[in-house]
Amino acid sequence: MIGVTILGATGSIGVNTLDVISQHRDRFSVVALTANRNVESLAKQCLDWSPRYAVMADESCAGQLQKILHGKSTEVLAGPEGLQHVAEIEETDYVMAAIVGAAGLLPTLAAAKSGKRILLANKESLVMSGQIFIDAVREHQAELLPIDSEHNAIFQCMPSAFNNGLKESGVNRILLTASGGPFRTTPLNELHRVTPDQACAHPNWVMGRKISVDSATMMNKGLEIIEACWLFNTTPDHIQVVLHPQSVIHSMVEYIDGSVLGQLSNPDMRTPIAYALAWPERIQSGVDCLNLFDIAQLDFEPPDLERFPCLRLAREAMQLGGTATAILNAANEIAVEEFLNRNIRFTSIAEVVETTLAHVPSHTAATLEIILADDIAAREYARYMVQELVA
Ligand code: NAD
Ligand code: MG
Repeated sequence: MIGVTILGATGSIGVNTLDVISQHRDRFSVVALTANRNVESLAKQCLDWSPRYAVMADESCAGQLQKILHGKSTEVLAGPEGLQHVAEIEETDYVMAAIVGAAGLLPTLAAAKSGKRILLANKESLVMSGQIFIDAVREHQAELLPIDSEHNAIFQCMPSAFNNGLKESGVNRILLTASGGPFRTTPLNELHRVTPDQACAHPNWVMGRKISVDSATMMNKGLEIIEACWLFNTTPDHIQVVLHPQSVIHSMVEYIDGSVLGQLSNPDMRTPIAYALAWPERIQSGVDCLNLFDIAQLDFEPPDLERFPCLRLAREAMQLGGTATAILNAANEIAVEEFLNRNIRFTSIAEVVETTLAHVPSHTAATLEIILADDIAAREYARYMVQELVA
């Protein structure tokens, strides 16, 4: 049996992971499940799955969970130490890293340092700490498998030897597909008054609210360019974003001989999750095969950088290097939270990120401490910017 720990079990990716595992109970067992504050959902999952550990990241909620699970075989842990512990322990073979945001970095890095197979949904880990993270994976012989549908697709279309470098493998470019989100065709002069609910109503995917807003601004695609650079050892100029509104092709790899390989499937995260759980084998995911006659048509268009300034900002941050991508990510987390709380406009998200990037100095990302200090500085500056906008 392979022991799986799910960080962020109550979220959209966490729930889909348990769905896939439920189809393969002979192969996978659940070692630990974690959540931030959602006691009710985590308790229900623990009663269904009897994991060895349950972790409430927010320590103030742990007592409540403990009460519900009293007399059960699940031990309740709390806080960042609890998250780190379950990512490291021997019983854990695979770690699904599905916490949203910067909070996912330390436990995911702990999994890398313990040589686990990491199923990486938390792209923020790589955006914040790219080189340190990749070095930890190499040094401790961890396995890093992308869950993000685009990166999972790219991984599926790459030669197994791509670690030698894309060029040596005959790869010309990565074609990173994007749906364009709910506002792809909204008149530009209406974007300033779209609501959080409109932003979260993604045309093709059901996801957590943070990544849904990121999809609407296309900051998600920007973060994914950065994620792809680290995963596939390449640079932003080798990544072309392709708008593809149907979300059927999840990304493509272009080779020097003119071949383009793509991965197609229904937009359902259980496909990449099943792929990463079983790799290099394939297992059932519960996702229906494509009906190409129903789909009938696949469309492609170049991204509009005026509509989606976050795409440009992410490229700029990656080109700057060092902690600039952590600053970008931190400013975006604050801006998205403030938008979701209806304190700033949708169009102010990019403004907050752009001014934070311009004002908070970045540094060489030599240590985790430097990265985390710049993350904090960026959050402070972004909050100050929000105050200015609200005033
Ligand atoms: P979600 O909001 O649905 O779930 C987030 C999970 O993380 C929950 O279990 C929550 O309790 C936990 N969490 C939140 N804040 C936390 C904190 N401070 N400390 C510890 N735990 C915390 O998010 P999601 O849509 O499942 O996304 C999770 C990650 O996967 C994100 O990094 C996202 O970018 C990535 N991702 C998601 C999808 C998708 O389809 N949902 C696709 C690709 C990548
Ligand atoms: Mg994605």
